[in-house]
Amino acid sequence: MANTSKKSRVLIVYTGGTIGMARTEDGYKPFPGYLTQLMGQFRAFSDSAVPEYEVHQFDPLLDSSDMTPSEWVRIACAVRDHYDDYDGFLVLHGTDTMAFTASALSFMLENLGKPVLLTGSQIPLAETRNDARDNLLTSLVILGQHHQDLAGVYLFFADRLYRGNRTTKTHSDDFQAFASPNLPPVGQAGIDIEINRDLALPFDRPKVPPSIVEMGEATVAAFRIFPGLKAEYLSSILKPPVQGVVLECFGAGNAPAANEKFMQALADATARGVVIVAVTQPMQGSANLDLYANGHALREVGVVGGYDMTAEAALAKLFYLFAKGLPSEEVRRLVQQNLRGELTPEPS
Ligand code: ASP
Repeated sequence: MANTSKKSRVLIVYTGGTIGMARTEDGYKPFPGYLTQLMGQFRAFSDSAVPEYEVHQFDPLLDSSDMTPSEWVRIACAVRDHYDDYDGFLVLHGTDTMAFTASALSFMLENLGKPVLLTGSQIPLAETRNDARDNLLTSLVILGQHHQDLAGVYLFFADRLYRGNRTTKTHSDDFQAFASPNLPPVGQAGIDIEINRDLALPFDRPKVPPSIVEMGEATVAAFRIFPGLKAEYLSSILKPPVQGVVLECFGAGNAPAANEKFMQALADATARGVVIVAVTQPMQGSANLDLYANGHALREVGVVGGYDMTAEAALAKLFYLFAKGLPSEEVRRLVQQNLRGELTPEPS
């Protein structure tokens, strides 16, 4: 569906999620065409402040728990295939795995010179009280008015614009469902929409559409450390064919270094070329493997620090680097570098 006569053009890539669901006896479900039909009923969506938009709908529409790297590729292809026809792209997505998809898209869309914005909602547009209308309308307005100022992957939710690969879902039922623990919001929608250009991603405007790295080609996993863990749990994750693992550590990048079998499992895996990246379990801060002896012991067995990356960004980055076919030494090097604004390196 489309409205005409406006200048900026936005492609809505509708993947599913609560935003477009209808209430059924079995709970909320998405139905093809239902969201666009609802949008057509609200006059606000054809207001002159809203850019011209068209909807590209996934078939089937997904609950975002069912997202896999193949769906990330489908979203990226929708952007690439329609790149020249639009000023910006709005990905409608379930909130549950939105931060993973935002992180993945930020890496896999190489040389992206236009904005790709993800949003969704906690209550569907079909309900009387909802956050869907504001999230959807403001996202469209941001893309319409600010597509010249932004390129790269962003997430908009509850009046805040975030760098996509800095986000994590922090609330299951509050309207303020996302946070960007280690970077302030890039923008704020109050009476005016304000963008902080210092926090927006730097960009060029390449004349050609972005190229896509097909993320499905890598084997990557995550492991959250907990008191009392058995080394066997970790060993089963680290078995071939796994190439990379995100190790969610205590505090500033600590793990039970006194557990010899655990440390041996890490050492054996890194010796085989598995890239193990430490991130921190606390919401804020950085994994610094040099701060404590326990963290240092991780470095000794070949684990690398992920600095202040979210676990979502670290996982997506491993998928991306291995999907590019890079040797593991190169992945170890690049995973610690800032590639798309996803980490703040420690001052040297
Ligand atoms: N379960 C839904 C999903 O992630 C929740 C949402 O859309 O927010 O698709």
